[in-house]
Amino acid sequence: MFPTTSTTPLTFEPYLLDHNATDSANLDGWRMMFERQQFVDANAPTVIPPCPAWCILPAGHEYDSTDGFGADLVFARRHVAYEGAKMSDVSVTERNHYGAVTVDEPSIFLAGEADEATVAEVRAIAAELLKAADVLDRITR
Ligand SMILES: [Zn+2]
Repeated sequence: MFPTTSTTPLTFEPYLLDHNATDSANLDGWRMMFERQQFVDANAPTVIPPCPAWCILPAGHEYDSTDGFGADLVFARRHVAYEGAKMSDVSVTERNHYGAVTVDEPSIFLAGEADEATVAEVRAIAAELLKAADVLDRITR
């Protein structure tokens, strides 16, 4: 997807084979996806900004998602300060729009629900949230 990791074939036919696209009725859709991927690869940031000091991911981790197309193309990645085992993390999203980099404020991201959790699971989630609150407090002071 990105300059250092892209495995996108340079021509359409190998792209179809890579995606097991045997449905010839949807060739226009596959061609649009192929052309978008080529555009994304051609416009991927060549400089990866440094992570915040608190990011626990490997230094220089690449952008892992894109949104938009053409003048609206944006690359994004998350910086993670804490990653709980159950359902929370402390992180921010960084967006790169043709070299203009913006970073959200760090926040606690809570995924999932505790509707049918056991008492032990609820305690584990609560402990995780307390750790997440401590981390968020530390990195935003
Ligand atoms: Zn990072």
